[in-house]
Amino acid sequence: MVKRERVFIPKPKSAFLSGTCVKCGTENVFFSNSTCDVKCKQCGEILAYKTGGKVELSESIGEEIKRLDYS
Ligand SMILES: [Zn+2]
Repeated sequence: MVKRERVFIPKPKSAFLSGTCVKCGTENVFFSNSTCDVKCKQCGEILAYKTGGKVELSESIGEEIKRLDYS
């Protein structure tokens, strides 16, 4: 009998990212492998598009993307 444990372990290639909306300057935190489009929480501008894997950053997000590591 194989014992299966359901433990959520974040995959190494995915991470929470933080980027700034160039339209309104609001900092948004999102998941790098988000399954839906990432929109600015303030103005609704699309900051990243879902691709099925890692999101594709749009032109509406600042160049400086911070990675929020688990600790
Ligand atoms: Zn915005």
